[in-house]
Amino acid sequence: MEDLVCLTELEEPPSSGFSTVNLDSTQTVASRSQRRHLTEPTVIDQRSGNVIPIRSLSISKQTSLINNRTNNFRLQYFPTASEEDWNDWRWQLRHRIKTLVELERVISLSQAERDAFQMHAGPLPVGITPYYASLIHQKDPNHPIRRMVVMSKDEFRMSPGEADDPLGEDGHSPVPGLVHRYPDRVLFLVTGFCSVYCRYCTRSRLVGKSNHESKFNMQQWEAALQYIERTPVVRDVLLSGGDPLTLSNDKLEWLLRRLRKIPHVEIIRIGSKVPVVLPQRITPALTNMLKKYHPLWMSLHFSHPEEITPETTRACRMLAEAAIPLGSQTVLLKGINDSVQTMKKLYQGLLKILVKPYYLYQCDPVSGSAQFRTTVEKGLEIIEGLRGHTSGYAVPHYVIDAPGGGGKIPILPNYVVSHDKSDWTLRNYEHRSFHYPNPIEQPDNVLQTVEGGEPCM
Ligand code: SF4
Repeated sequence: MEDLVCLTELEEPPSSGFSTVNLDSTQTVASRSQRRHLTEPTVIDQRSGNVIPIRSLSISKQTSLINNRTNNFRLQYFPTASEEDWNDWRWQLRHRIKTLVELERVISLSQAERDAFQMHAGPLPVGITPYYASLIHQKDPNHPIRRMVVMSKDEFRMSPGEADDPLGEDGHSPVPGLVHRYPDRVLFLVTGFCSVYCRYCTRSRLVGKSNHESKFNMQQWEAALQYIERTPVVRDVLLSGGDPLTLSNDKLEWLLRRLRKIPHVEIIRIGSKVPVVLPQRITPALTNMLKKYHPLWMSLHFSHPEEITPETTRACRMLAEAAIPLGSQTVLLKGINDSVQTMKKLYQGLLKILVKPYYLYQCDPVSGSAQFRTTVEKGLEIIEGLRGHTSGYAVPHYVIDAPGGGGKIPILPNYVVSHDKSDWTLRNYEHRSFHYPNPIEQPDNVLQTVEGGEPCM
């Protein structure tokens, strides 16, 4: 580990000031000529002097990666924390920023943010890992990452159409903590605990309650598992919460083992923001455990390109190396990521770290969410600005999770100009029209004859 120095983290460093990454902050920085041709995260092997892409390192050599900005934050605000402490996910959880005093120590709060903090009561408290706090702009209240996790007074304002349970999940729960809305799959809410609390959370009514530190409820797990066991149509189980990756390896493995014993459960999915806000949690011990329970998929929750750091890059790479397919579910958030430019940067960045942009969600009308919700037209404009303009893999499904429990409904720009039985007129991403000759369906005895009455081969 001492032999490696990281030169760059990303092709285009985020605007928040990342430039270089030290795997060991005491090591030397590379020369300009060494940096010039780098287009991906790399390190220098101090013994050989070779420049090595992070992707070609063995995972064990990456165990103490801290990017420069984060390392400066560590030294300033957590000076007694060693690199080992900092890279220990349990240390990160123990030192989450939860009180006004702790928050004011690391951020210059505006009066409105301070007032909001003091007004708050009930679930969805403030909770920010020191790592994620290091990505926040300390002076700008409009900084995208800051807005996602620091309270504002707007979250106490109810707007028309908003509700505490906008998706009607509670009405689709045959047993507490399990939502069975779609025919063949269930949502299993395994904990009410998250390492970071997002201010726009759809489950703000449930997560981070004052007794949330218990993290899980065995009776509830048993009831949910028994429901899945006696319901053979359930072939797909999504573990969510709260955040399942905040559970210990033992508890998570207990759950996965039980699910894998159910013959009709074909796939297991885990929904998690942990690789984004607590990437230290992704350890070889975790990935070695997870890969015993394939097919296992993971839905991550990236929201902004500044979240793609060397730490999250490494976490996603480790998960991918454990053969876990990775998708990202991004919520469209006003003033945070609602532009083509931001989304393109996010989605192209995700592909580089082996994460497929899966869903772009229109923000659910949860109570107090008006500050985050932008129009459906804006979402369509973003999809229109991506489709054809960048790799198809970088274009997610834009969906509205129908209020009241209607499920996810895809929304697409209109690419069909007109059509009749034999012709579809379509427009492409450059607004040019093209015709597709539609095969005309005819009865077999008409279609499959040629002159002479012999059937076509
Ligand atoms: S991590 Fe997920 S469940 Fe937790 S607060 Fe954020 S959006 Fe809600």
